[in-house]
Amino acid sequence: MIKSQYSKENNEAGLDVDKRIVSSLTIDDDETENSLRPRTMDEYVGQSKIKKNLDVYITAARERNDALDHVLLYGPPGLGKTTLSHVIASELGAQIRVTSGPAIERAADLAAILTNLEKGDILFIDEIHRLNRNIEEVLYPAMEDFSLDFVSGKGPMARSIRLPLKHFTLIGATTRAGMLSSPLRDRFGMMLRLEMYSAEELTSIITRSARILGISINPDAALEIAKRSRGTPRIANRLLRRVRDFAQYERLEAVNIAITRKALTLMDVDELGLDATDRTVLEAIIDKFGGGPVGLDTLAAATGEEASTIEDVVEPFLIQLGFIARTPRGRMCTKNAYAHLGKAYIE
Ligand code: ADP
Repeated sequence: MIKSQYSKENNEAGLDVDKRIVSSLTIDDDETENSLRPRTMDEYVGQSKIKKNLDVYITAARERNDALDHVLLYGPPGLGKTTLSHVIASELGAQIRVTSGPAIERAADLAAILTNLEKGDILFIDEIHRLNRNIEEVLYPAMEDFSLDFVSGKGPMARSIRLPLKHFTLIGATTRAGMLSSPLRDRFGMMLRLEMYSAEELTSIITRSARILGISINPDAALEIAKRSRGTPRIANRLLRRVRDFAQYERLEAVNIAITRKALTLMDVDELGLDATDRTVLEAIIDKFGGGPVGLDTLAAATGEEASTIEDVVEPFLIQLGFIARTPRGRMCTKNAYAHLGKAYIE
């Protein structure tokens, strides 16, 4: 799924970086990700607005000895939705059950999960926008009235049966709130949008991760990685591990700024965190479509990327940087994008 962006020839150190290093999607070496997940609200860096809101609701729910209202977390991959759900569960002292939209294949699977939940439990559904519509319908009465509706028997003997459920909390995560059907969206008491992280916030995440992984890193090197991590903790942690590999290869005691810059350059991650895929997308808009506007599907065909990858993974950061503007007629490159790529902008 993740395309190879790096040929082995331009990898001097001979290390295996044969993956899109700034992808915010999970790739196999992210297994250490679990060890890096903050467990408490205090350890969870940034997202101060969300944390403040949640603190109020969590405290209130705890005092009432009631389940927390259903929460929808949305934002690009790697910003901490899964992590936050675990933090919420631990703050509530609740059990958490984790699944995802594509993993639930039949309505009966979801019904089985729901009937096994205890009072106050949290059900986390990742990629909830990919839940099949007829399965999604099981959630409506479950979220609203804590009950399951199903039909028993067939034909004239069919009877509708209502089964009560315990008061649970659903936490849904999605990269695209817009793709949720409105009946589902309306049943969430809280919709929280995760923001990209500042370089300072990412520096503190990197410093913490380095401590856990036993990596010694100089502060300026941590800041350099932070600046090139596309505002995304998952990418920051991944770049830290890759830079550490380069430092280890060169037998350095600590990750310093020189090896950090060298490693990131070899990985083809530029000073703003853009990689080859980002540049391909920007160059396609500029060179093939005169700077735009160009529709998403056309852009996907021209770059060989999936439309959903462009929309969920590539574009959010380019929009945040002010390199791409979304207009009703399609995507356009801004003057800043031309400048970054060293291309002449004609008014
Ligand atoms: P998402 O579910 O949004 O794709 P995750 O919750 O899996 O993202 O986060 C990816 C990784 O980034 C986690 O393993 C965690 O180590 C790190 N991370 C995410 N958010 C934070 C945060 N606020 N503070 C510290 N680390 C974070």
